[in-house]
Amino acid sequence: MYGLMQDHPLLISGLIKHAAANHGRREVVSRLGDGSIHRTDYASVERRARALAEKLQSLGIGHGERIATLAWNTYRHLECFYGVSGMGAVLHTVNPRLFREQIAYIIRHAEDRLLIFDADLLNIVESVADEIPSVEHFVVLCTREALPASTRLKLVAYEDWINGRGDDYHWPSFDERSASSLCYTSGTTGNPKGVLYSHRSTLLHALVTVQADVFALTSVDSVMPVAPMFHANAWSLPYCCPMVGAKMVLPGNRMDAKSLYEMLSQEAVTFSVGVPTIWTMIQGYLQETASSLPDLSRCLVAGTAMPPAIRETFKTKYGVTAVHAWGMTETSPIGTMSTLSAEVAALPEAQRTEQLLKQGRVPYGVEIQVRNSQGQTAPHDGQTFGPLMVRGPWVASGYFKGDGGAVLDADGWFPTGDVATWDKYGFMKITDRTKDVIKSGGEWISSIDVENAVMSHPAVKLAATVAAFHPKWDERPVLVVVPVEGAAPTKEQILEFLAARMAKWWLPDDVIFVLELPVTATGKILKARLREQYWHHLHDASS
Ligand code: ADP
Repeated sequence: MYGLMQDHPLLISGLIKHAAANHGRREVVSRLGDGSIHRTDYASVERRARALAEKLQSLGIGHGERIATLAWNTYRHLECFYGVSGMGAVLHTVNPRLFREQIAYIIRHAEDRLLIFDADLLNIVESVADEIPSVEHFVVLCTREALPASTRLKLVAYEDWINGRGDDYHWPSFDERSASSLCYTSGTTGNPKGVLYSHRSTLLHALVTVQADVFALTSVDSVMPVAPMFHANAWSLPYCCPMVGAKMVLPGNRMDAKSLYEMLSQEAVTFSVGVPTIWTMIQGYLQETASSLPDLSRCLVAGTAMPPAIRETFKTKYGVTAVHAWGMTETSPIGTMSTLSAEVAALPEAQRTEQLLKQGRVPYGVEIQVRNSQGQTAPHDGQTFGPLMVRGPWVASGYFKGDGGAVLDADGWFPTGDVATWDKYGFMKITDRTKDVIKSGGEWISSIDVENAVMSHPAVKLAATVAAFHPKWDERPVLVVVPVEGAAPTKEQILEFLAARMAKWWLPDDVIFVLELPVTATGKILKARLREQYWHHLHDASS
């Protein structure tokens, strides 16, 4: 017997319809390419998204067809999130920081019919144009007056394109399991793989993400996603904010500390999301300019492990709670979030802090498992570490077009490629990526733990620990350090500092000082490159 409740599909268009109807005047503030500030609201975003949807329909874009965007966080990109998915097509957000060859590959692989992009990214589009035959139209997110000149491509202005449309357009209803958006993982090895979200997975994920134990978003929040909308949907904020009617503050392509600070302070941002390097940069700026962010109550730190110093400084100096979270493109992206549980809240402060520095616990909807070396469930002891598995209604079941192979095991678990521990409070801690763990004489050393320890040294700006070949132990850790400007720490000082913080056999065999570290398209340290570079370092150094 079925229940007798109404059966409305969970569709992305429903979010913006809700925001327009109930939070219509709530602002969406964007920094545009010329640095100016643009203000609009949810009623206008919904109207213009409908105009875009109608335009796509008039071009014959069908259900499930892919439309690519190559764009920064602005209101026009937000309109694409709703216009494209809302009419039943699939929004493919392309990361402009990928290598040119990867951009061409994923647009070809997705068979995108349209490419909608920001004017300052024209050179990337021109450089791949000959290799993306599926693309029929090149649309620039600007007015006719601002349309850049191109000798190679016929460009159209987005504003011309949607002008005068949408009034009679009604959002269609369809199966909530339909594909809604497509996001490729950056693929540090091999080709990028396409994660294909559905309307249902996106809505369920957003419903859980706004909860008090996760992002704790309400209509009085002012929210700035520094995380880009092309990377795991900016931690789903383009969906969560309209859901609760929170103000959105979109920083465009200005990612320098001063511009971000201006947006955070002038728009009274209460909640923001970014990778650790962003927060380190903002802390540096606050310190240099003796400023503060009185409205900011919490910032989410994710993407790579949060160095303890970020949490401590934000808390003690600026009264901001830095919350740690873990997730990946394949998990929509929320997997775990480090917020207090009743048991952890009751712990003495030092222990509580130790818990909150972990990647956290699962919200309803996500199940995780840590496996031991025999492939069985590891005990909840906070010590045993092994592969982290995840499953749930917003976790990928495979990759677009099957490229990437069968990924789930027999019980439907998705292997994250991360290595973790979990403890008696249900808190998970990432100790490494499977490929970054250092295997010294059969024992594992967590490169992240070594990095976190060294990052609290005042003369260290950035650090990476990688495995180097060792004839006796197979692998030993080598530490690569970027010192803060003007500082000149020595190897001995660094090792002495670490010796007080970890087991002797974890201490790196060498410390190398460099000016910068290579990073991936998503701003993470490119460990694979460092490993290649330093694999023979110990051998070379000793011979
Ligand atoms: P990409 O590798 O393209 O950046 P993702 O954004 O999907 O793709 O990266 C997900 C990975 O990022 C996770 O599997 C994990 O290794 C890492 N990660 C995410 N959040 C954290 C965190 N809080 N601590 C440590 N690692 C993290």
